[in-house]
Amino acid sequence: METTKSTSRNSGSNSSRSEARRTNGSSSNENQSNRAGLSSQLGKLFEDELKDIYWAEKALTKAIPKMVKKASSAELIEALESHLKETEKHVSRIEEVFAILDKEPKAKKCEAMAGLIKEAEEIMSDSEKGPMRDAGIIAAAQKVEHYEIASYGTMCTFAKTLGWSEVKSILGSTLEEEKNADSGLTEIAEACINIEAAVEEG
Ligand code: FE
Ligand code: ZN
Ligand code: FE
Repeated sequence: METTKSTSRNSGSNSSRSEARRTNGSSSNENQSNRAGLSSQLGKLFEDELKDIYWAEKALTKAIPKMVKKASSAELIEALESHLKETEKHVSRIEEVFAILDKEPKAKKCEAMAGLIKEAEEIMSDSEKGPMRDAGIIAAAQKVEHYEIASYGTMCTFAKTLGWSEVKSILGSTLEEEKNADSGLTEIAEACINIEAAVEEG
């Protein structure tokens, strides 16, 4: 719904601008105001993304401990616990970015993350404690990491375009940690869990 609203708002201002260009030709003043307009639209989109991931990271600080409780593999428990600590850092980094932008930190419910967490809970309650459940937890956790990688990747690109180098570097550190969390989970899955789960099945 918000997308529709902002799209119609955008197309409104764009069409009046291109109207001006058609009648007067494009002076450098118009180009500048056009760029400023696009910057503020991109800034708004960035802020929406930030509110979304703020909600998501906070939700994860509550969801990851539940995954830890349901996991069996020592490696998996360790990976989840260490990513929980990182996730708490991710929350504070987002608050730092809000402060740099001179905005109050505000969260907006991320329906995607809410759905991924709900699926993780379903997987955990549908399986017995052991390697199969661990494999399910890894699958669910990797979907979470991929969502975060997409979000932080986008926000870094937006920040770069907007010339917000400090913001880009803060969120870039989080992006790296999300990527490492994802590849760590892949290693755990390959090293033990999936094999044990297959053996248990067969
Ligand atoms: Fe995170
Ligand atoms: Zn979302
Ligand atoms: Fe993460």
